[in-house]
Amino acid sequence: MNKKTIEDICFCSKRALVRVDFNIPQDEEGNITDDTRIRAALPTINYLLEKNAKVILMSHLGRPKGKVNMKYSLKPAAERLSQYIGKPVTLAEDVVGESAKACVEAMNFGDVVMLENVRFDPREEANDPEFAKELAQFGDIFVSDAFGTVHRAHASTAGVAQYLPAVAGFLIKKELEIMGNALENPARPFVAMLGGKKVSDKIGVIENLINKVDILIIGGGMSYTFFKAMGRNIGNSILEADKLDLAKSLMAKAEEKGVKMYFPLDIVLGKDYSNDTETLIVDSDKIPDDWEGFDIGPKTREFYTNVLADAKTVVWNGPVGVFELPIFSNGTKAIAMAMTKVVENGGITIIGGGDSAAAVEQMGLADKMTHISTGGGASLEFLEGKTLPGIAVLADK
Ligand code: ADP
Ligand code: MG
Repeated sequence: MNKKTIEDICFCSKRALVRVDFNIPQDEEGNITDDTRIRAALPTINYLLEKNAKVILMSHLGRPKGKVNMKYSLKPAAERLSQYIGKPVTLAEDVVGESAKACVEAMNFGDVVMLENVRFDPREEANDPEFAKELAQFGDIFVSDAFGTVHRAHASTAGVAQYLPAVAGFLIKKELEIMGNALENPARPFVAMLGGKKVSDKIGVIENLINKVDILIIGGGMSYTFFKAMGRNIGNSILEADKLDLAKSLMAKAEEKGVKMYFPLDIVLGKDYSNDTETLIVDSDKIPDDWEGFDIGPKTREFYTNVLADAKTVVWNGPVGVFELPIFSNGTKAIAMAMTKVVENGGITIIGGGDSAAAVEQMGLADKMTHISTGGGASLEFLEGKTLPGIAVLADK
């Protein structure tokens, strides 16, 4: 990695201003339903505490739209973090106001202060330079570790780096190393497994990966736009009628580059989006009217499993079926299982995308993958080959 990390800098007697992603899901009563993001930040926070730094944390939570709204307070996150690190986490009552200033002023080395939700201030998302400067006054070094937000140029993710030396924390380091290496220097065969609902969501990813992979496997709702472009009947399956030319040009591009592009051989159809709908399995060129495609069929499961069996690097973005409904989850399960075999055989598997990650977690296979990216939108933009503003501002090695 060509960006400086927290290991390249001395933190003794320093204040580390750390952007974490504590945008945790909560239920109606405000209980945390999944604290993965808090746990993902622990290596960086613990390292800084070991180095005896003062640790000042910044994060957003939800969309309070620039107004103070205690529904989006970071209190539950601060409490959970305190349990994990076994020491108090002082939550300031504001972001850059009197309370924040007093809390930081009162810190000893090895203490942790969390500022309130940065999105309580409208200047955060506007990447206002004055606000960034006010945040920067709390630290001597900026540590960026919120991979989930590095695709946004906000004051706490990018702006502060104008005023402080900026380095990557361990989470960002891991994301960049694993995904960056897979894209730039992959063990081959390199296979991309792309699904999800719409081809329009994945155009950038397909266009970037087509230059890098040996095989592109298509599944999910976007298959039907490709099938339509091939002149096939797709019944009531999801179609983006304005993307037919795009689908054709992507297929032509794959052919031109010598990238093999595979499509589902058979489909599990349903009458409607429900778990007790009538189902039918047909070859993908024989979809009857009045039916809708919701999953890949058994022949495709076997075919894709065989293709993946030889892969040395796999990037997966987008479930191959409506995995939220158990009757249409078999395809996605088969892909996830095939990917665990890749890892068993010494290959690398990377999962990017919120729903794909959720599917793998739900199946209990998360720890059998090489890497599940913690950033939904950020990992997608990374796979698209875009420059991420929160990464671009970090100091070069
Ligand atoms: P990710 O979050 O991993 O990038 P997407 O958001 O692109 O994935 O796609 C996930 C959604 O795609 C899921 O909600 C799933 O139900 C839907 N999906 C998959 N296959 C189909 C299909 N055949 N028809 C409609 N929706 C589908
Ligand atoms: Mg999604």
